[in-house]
Formats: sequence, C-alpha cells, structure tokens
Amino acid sequence: MSPARKSTPAAAKRGTGQNKTGAGAKAPAKPKAAKRVARLSPADAEEMFARLKALNPTPTTELEYSTPFELLVAVALSAQSTDVGVNKATRKLFPVANTPQAIVALGVEGLKPYIATIGLYNTKAANVVALSQRLLAEHAGEVPRGRAALEALPGVGRKTANVVLNTAFGEPTMAVDTHIFRVANRTGLAPGKTVRAVEDGLLKSVPADYLQDAHHWLILHGRYVCKARKPDCPHCAIRDLCRYPDKTPGEPEPVAA
Ligand code: SF4
Repeated sequence: MSPARKSTPAAAKRGTGQNKTGAGAKAPAKPKAAKRVARLSPADAEEMFARLKALNPTPTTELEYSTPFELLVAVALSAQSTDVGVNKATRKLFPVANTPQAIVALGVEGLKPYIATIGLYNTKAANVVALSQRLLAEHAGEVPRGRAALEALPGVGRKTANVVLNTAFGEPTMAVDTHIFRVANRTGLAPGKTVRAVEDGLLKSVPADYLQDAHHWLILHGRYVCKARKPDCPHCAIRDLCRYPDKTPGEPEPVAA
C-alpha cells in the first residue's frame, strides 16, 4: 500500500478507534476547523478520489488483523494510540488469545500485560473482556454486522462500529478520526465542526464509486501528506483541488529522469 506520498511515519499518528461517540460528538481537540473554506464541487471531489485511487488502488487499514474479532479488538485498543503501537501489542496477544472465549479465559488481569504499552490500557482491558463476554452471551461469539448491536458492546462507539462495518464487512461507512476530520475540513470536501457533521458531509460528498474505500484514502492522506502541524502541500497530489487557504509554500522537487 502506498499513500499519496509517504513522509516519515514518525509524525504523530492516531489510531482508528475511539470510545463512544454520538451525534453530538465533539471534534478532535487538534487541529481545529479554524477557518471556513469553500466546499469542493462534485466534479473536484470526483477528481480528488480518482487521483487518490490512482496512487493507491487498494487501500486498507494499517491495523493488523485476520478476523472480524481481531479487528474489533484492535480498533478498541487504538483509541488515542497509534496503529503501530497497537500492532506491537496484538502481535503478542492474538497468537495467545484471538477469540472471545480465549479473551474471557485470559481475564482482565491476564490481558493487561499484553497491552500495557498502550494508553488507557486498564480501561481497554476491562472493555475488551466485557465485550468478549457480551459476544459470547448474545451473539454466539461472533461479531455482529449491525451498527446497533456493535455500539451496544462495551467500549464500542460510533467510530469503532464504522471501522468494523467498513473494513470487516465491506459496508460503505465513514469512520471519522482526527486525520479524516482535518482533511475533510482543509480540502473543503466536507467541512464541519463536529465529527458527526463531517461524517454526514462525507457520506453526501464522496462519490458513490469511492465510498467503500474513502475512509482509508482520507486517513492515509492525512497521516502522511496533509499532516496536522505542517501539511506537505508542495507534494500533495490534490493541491490544485484543495480549498485550504494556508497551504504550505514551495514547489515539488523535479522527478529524476
Ligand atoms: S494541498 Fe495541503 S492542505 Fe490541501 S490536502 Fe494537500 S496537503 Fe492538505
């Protein structure tokens, strides 16, 4: 997978999961949607995704998983953590416990050592064990495919449900994290002051053909190109389409012959 342009992944990265969020969920604290920008036209939105797709035809999550349950656990662990950090933990955890039964058998105290390097690990350990118990009690140990059932699981909010619905089950949902929130606002693709407003805006403005993978393209673009502190505008593939008024100056380096 190759995002539009990879600079150093050492830039602050946020995971794709988060705790419960609802219709009134506040936007990520940083960066703010400080300036009002013009909306992208439908034609420019189409062109934007055509370019992102050309650069990365099959985007996917950077969280490592092999089953819907592993993805659910990885996303639940990723709130306010990096995907890299979550992958380091789950590479040790999943070979030992990658089913609800095994997680419940491990228990909260047994799970903690595997995830102790991840932020909020005490709360996350309790949630992962509790959601595993709920899956066994109410869903025969399977991850449900419905939003309501997912959001009823301990520690699973709207965004986590969106990630699972999109990435595990192929639903055209839009899980708005800090990267997507920033890119949607800067570009003018779906300006909004809250996470839910941006999610709803994206569901309207992303062309139907690109909706399934848009979540991944936007995250990767925000993570590696349209970075929070200093967007790499000179090397951005959608610079001419983007409505952000404070683009970083400079010209792209000439391509070597
Ligand atoms: S031109 Fe700059 S602000 Fe606009 S999407 Fe590209 S990197 Fe982000």
